[in-house]
Amino acid sequence: MPELPEVETTVRGLAKFLDGARIERVTLNRPDLRRPFPDDLVQVMTGATITSLSRRAKYGLLHLDREQSVIFHLGMSGRWRIDPDEPDKHDHMVVETANNRFALCDPRRFGSVDMVATGQLDAWGPFASLGPEPLGPDLTPAYLKAALKGKVQNIKLCLLDQRIVAGLGNIYVCEALWRSGIRPTKRGGTVTRAQFERLVPAIKDVLTASIRDGGSSLRDYAAPDGELGYFATRFDVYGREGEPCHNDDGGMIKRIVQGGRSTWYCPVCQK
Ligand SMILES: [Zn+2]
Repeated sequence: MPELPEVETTVRGLAKFLDGARIERVTLNRPDLRRPFPDDLVQVMTGATITSLSRRAKYGLLHLDREQSVIFHLGMSGRWRIDPDEPDKHDHMVVETANNRFALCDPRRFGSVDMVATGQLDAWGPFASLGPEPLGPDLTPAYLKAALKGKVQNIKLCLLDQRIVAGLGNIYVCEALWRSGIRPTKRGGTVTRAQFERLVPAIKDVLTASIRDGGSSLRDYAAPDGELGYFATRFDVYGREGEPCHNDDGGMIKRIVQGGRSTWYCPVCQK
């Protein structure tokens, strides 16, 4: 499932081709993904120039010179294919410029494409209640301490709450809590200032490292079958149940379930 680093590298990969490009043709091969494509999507995109691309939480944005922005979400299985050799039956939306073809391929169709007036983006439903970007300047130890004050919910679920931090997913929360030595079951309101001082850089570091890995794995994305969207990263706790902690403290990584999702942590060094 694409997480924030995959979306960031996808946006950066697309930007190399699409920043400043004029859209010649848009083809929709079905009426919907998770929800219908916007009625006027093809009409507005065709002939428009993409003035910039960006990311908000796990959404990618193509800003058009028509005061509209196209917003995509990759859902569970979505990815962009650049100049594919052959069409795929799951290429649900195809965008063509003078030089390239971009296919949004989404076998499970949990993704989405929306279009919103660029000036209204902050008020758009899914964006309106989002907390600060984890890689932006607003995520600080002081912010988190204030946001989690009095919370009885565990720190793991607090960090997955998009209203507190935007775009953090299961993998990176597990990894950041391990790096900062915080037990995922600890109540949000009882995390200390010193722990937040370690947690915030840990969040930024795990995301930045993953984006860097993704960037290098995308080096050949211009190949005819180049695909954007996924890459493998080595994790310290995620998926490592029963294996020794990378801190060599004698701990074995444990898996528990919180809010219906797996959490991995080291019972020795996470307190
Ligand atoms: Zn450990």
